Amino acid sequence: MEKCFDDLDIPERVLMGPGPSNVSPRVLRALSAPCIGHLDPYFTRIMDETQDLLRFVFQTQNRFTIPVSGTGSAGMETCFANLLQPGDRVVVGVNGVFGTRMVANARRLGGEVIPVEASWGEPISPKGVEESLRRNSIKIVAIVHAETSTGVLQPLEEIENLAHKAGALFLVDTVTSLGGIDVRVDDWGLDAVYSGTQKCLSCPPGLAPLTFNSRAMEVLENRKHPVPSWYLDMGMVRKYWGAERVYHHTAPVNMIYGLRESLRIIYEEGLEARFQRHIRNHLALVAGLEALGLPMHVREGLRLPSLNTVRIPSGVDDVRVRRALLQEFQIEIGGGLGDLKGKIWRIGLMGHSSTPGNVILFLGALGTLLKAEGTVTDPGAGVSAATERFASWESD
Ligand SMILES: *Cc1c(COP(=O)(O)O)cnc(C)c1O
Repeated sequence: MEKCFDDLDIPERVLMGPGPSNVSPRVLRALSAPCIGHLDPYFTRIMDETQDLLRFVFQTQNRFTIPVSGTGSAGMETCFANLLQPGDRVVVGVNGVFGTRMVANARRLGGEVIPVEASWGEPISPKGVEESLRRNSIKIVAIVHAETSTGVLQPLEEIENLAHKAGALFLVDTVTSLGGIDVRVDDWGLDAVYSGTQKCLSCPPGLAPLTFNSRAMEVLENRKHPVPSWYLDMGMVRKYWGAERVYHHTAPVNMIYGLRESLRIIYEEGLEARFQRHIRNHLALVAGLEALGLPMHVREGLRLPSLNTVRIPSGVDDVRVRRALLQEFQIEIGGGLGDLKGKIWRIGLMGHSSTPGNVILFLGALGTLLKAEGTVTDPGAGVSAATERFASWESD
């Protein structure tokens, strides 16, 4: 019997979940450009340009700024594997899935983890960090800037101060903020920062932008033990991305074309304009959700513009609504994780997906489905509230 393998026939999707976000046709074209050698002089020029563009989005002068081969989690693991040695003490903010993942990473690498917890929907309090820093010789304070599992935007300034006063490195996860929300690596004194390509950068998943400042590089250079991961050893990888061009592993050539194009799009738009766009679309979405009677999960002032969490009204079937959004409206959103499963929806407005059109489309679809669920009487209330917001800005 012969098997039949059909041509790919990817359904059209509006990606409004926790990532990936929609990818610009410009990035898709870049991905399909001819593959050339990873040491070809043309490609090494593309590598240099990609590093320049990464420094631009990270707002840093750090020399060591590269895309790690692997998704956002590889960026996380790279930071811990390179900066932590067995027995080192690490303070980790835990208020969602990704703080929890940081704890797991640091523990597997032999770190002594001191978690600072907050409930899922609240930020980590500087007070809690301060208390944990009373222990001696803390090597790293690690925190998630944009907690994608809860929708919380973590204020960094006070914790940065505390970390540095205690002589620790400040390590920050910017997977759901970079390219959508202000991330100022140099101005804010962030020592080691990683991100991912498929969230606000709107490139397919596969690379983890990473930047280390001189303090982090010093820690790496003065290790007693070799980095426990050969693949993620930045001491070796830096020699390929730097002037030496020493082969370590074959660069994912076409992914780097794609990342460069997605960064070029951000460069053309400008960071400030891009952040404003994310904020406006977020505010219009919130107005629409509230008009449909859905309360936001996170307090005003701490909400992520790139990832909106909203409480599911009682009596509404989480899975049925999300399935209908996908099947009838081609819209993907995310459900809750952990204790928030069945209680919240996670609506991404990241990068290429953060548009007024997507906000209006989604609110119209949701209104229609909530009317069918019997929890709203006016299915157009969300669209109406959002369009009011957009119209008020148009007439500014
Ligand atoms: C998505 C995400 C990650 C993990 O990235 P992957 O690309 O799924 O490996 C890490 N941290 C945060 C905050 C994220 O949103």
